[in-house]
Amino acid sequence: MASNQEALETLRWKKFPVLNDGFVCLVDVMGSDDSIVQAARVSYGEGTKSVSDDRTLIRYLMRHKHTTPFEMAEIKLLIRIPMDAWRQWVRHRTASINEYSTRYSVAIDSAQTTEPNAWRAQATANRQGSADYFDPAVGAELSEEERQFQEDARALYTKRVEMGVAREQARKDLPLSTYTQAYWKCDLHNLFHFLSLRMEGHAQLEIREYATVIGEQIVKPLFPCAYDAFVDYRLQSETLSRLEQETIARLAAAHKIPASLEDFMACGDPSWQGLTRCRERDEALAKLVKMGLVKE
Ligand SMILES: Cc1cc2nc3c(=O)[nH]c(=O)nc-3n(C[C@H](O)[C@H](O)[C@H](O)COP(=O)(O)OP(=O)(O)OC[C@H]3O[C@@H](n4cnc5c(N)ncnc54)[C@H](O)[C@@H]3O)c2cc1C
Repeated sequence: MASNQEALETLRWKKFPVLNDGFVCLVDVMGSDDSIVQAARVSYGEGTKSVSDDRTLIRYLMRHKHTTPFEMAEIKLLIRIPMDAWRQWVRHRTASINEYSTRYSVAIDSAQTTEPNAWRAQATANRQGSADYFDPAVGAELSEEERQFQEDARALYTKRVEMGVAREQARKDLPLSTYTQAYWKCDLHNLFHFLSLRMEGHAQLEIREYATVIGEQIVKPLFPCAYDAFVDYRLQSETLSRLEQETIARLAAAHKIPASLEDFMACGDPSWQGLTRCRERDEALAKLVKMGLVKE
């Protein structure tokens, strides 16, 4: 298996830009695809070498959730990120963090800004998400108000600091759009968990942009086999619940595949019947449509 040394030399300290002034930067890596294989072989013994090549073994480990070999590799990043996205990021407890201190130092003089064509409307179907983009003419007004607000907030902060107010108190009215910086170290197993949640469509766009850069620009070249397995078996895979499997079986037995919406409703789980709204059923339908088993 190819060493990741070459990829490491190219990537280390390279700043991948994210948002208007953020970045992700690889600081260090421990391990490679080889370390995952090496760790797995200590448990399975030399015998595995003859029956599976390294790529096959990594894919087997990922498929069957044998997670500890992936913990043998680690990655350390330096990130610059607005505080609101950082607040979501730090919920991932299985990493080691050191963050820029706005008690010791003056807060970074940079805030996340939004282009006129980048304001998103509140989604109605998903209460957490966004829907379509605003008309850029309306967006221009929002962007101008944003600029003014950020400028005013910074001026107030600077005035307090210059008057000698303690930095730990002066910072309290800085907006969440203010950038912070942090070192973030995580093993590959927990990093994949982070990526599976934050590269996915339900994650907020801003953190998704960071996660996608980490996944595609950094993890993929450093751990090509493990990343492929992650994409195939986690990021782009679907799980089927018992209810969903039985729905498919009923549709197949009735020769209704590809099924109409009415067929799906009739063959769905008994617990879904008669309900006007059912999120579990909606999600099952979306999966079956995606797989071509129900017609759109
Ligand atoms: C789309 C989306 C929406 C979200 N919405 C909200 C929200 O509205 N409100 C909100 O508060 N959060 C929200 N979150 C955050 C979410 O609930 C998790 O806190 C976050 O994704 C971190 O996941 P985690 O705990 O699995 O990761 P980590 O903290 O990295 O943990 C990884 C795994 O380690 C194990 N683990 C870690 N710590 C413990 C522990 N103390 N005890 C037991 N097991 C542990 C668990 O198996 C866990 O899955 C959201 C996340 C996403 C992706």
